[in-house]
Amino acid sequence: MTAQPVETLDALLTRLVRDIPDFPTPGVVFKDISPLLADHAGFSAVVDALAAPGRDPDGACVVDKVAGIEARGFILAAPVALALGAGFVPIRKAGKLPAATYQESYALEYGEATIEVHQDAISAGDRVLIVDDVLATGGTVAAATALVERCGGTVCGVSVLIELDFLAGSGKLGDLPLLSLLHV
Ligand code: AMP
Repeated sequence: MTAQPVETLDALLTRLVRDIPDFPTPGVVFKDISPLLADHAGFSAVVDALAAPGRDPDGACVVDKVAGIEARGFILAAPVALALGAGFVPIRKAGKLPAATYQESYALEYGEATIEVHQDAISAGDRVLIVDDVLATGGTVAAATALVERCGGTVCGVSVLIELDFLAGSGKLGDLPLLSLLHV
C-alpha cells in the first residue's frame, strides 16, 4: 500500500480557514476559523503546533500560563494550556472580568480598544505564552504583552494561526519570539 502524503500545516490552514470578504466592515477580509475548529484532526494538529513554543527540546512544558485573547484566542489557548499542562488566563474586552483588573488601551484603524486581565491571574515570575488566531496590526498582542508584564509575568512567546504580513504587526512585538503557523 502506498503511504498517503502528510498534509503540511500550511496546506491544512489554507484548506480549513476561509476568507469572508467585507466582514465585519467593507474592505476587511475576515479569516474565519470555523471550518478548522469543526475538523478534529485539523484542530488537534494546530493545537499541538501552537503549543510547541511552550516546550523545551525534550517536550517538557516551560511555561506556567497560557493567555488567550477574547474571543477566538480563548478557543485556541485553552486546549493549548491543557496540552502543555499549564494554566489558562483569559484576556478580555473591557468590562467583562468581575474581579480587580489591569487595563491596556490601544489604537485600532478607527478608534480605540481596551483589554483587561485579572490582576491575580498571573503571579510574579510566571512565564506566559500568548495565543491568538490572527496577528494583524499587532496592537492586540502588544497590549496583551503589556498586561502580562503589569502582573509581573514574562511573555516567553506568542503563537498565532495566521499572520497578515502586509500589516507588519510583528514590528510591534520587538524581540518577542513569534510563531505564525501561516503567513498571508
Ligand atoms: P490586531 O490588533 O490588528 O493585530 O488585530 C488582531 C485581533 O483582531 C485578533 O484578536 C483577531 O482575532 C482580530 N482580527 C484582525 N484582523 C482579522 C482578520 N482579517 N480576520 C479575523 N480576525 C482578525
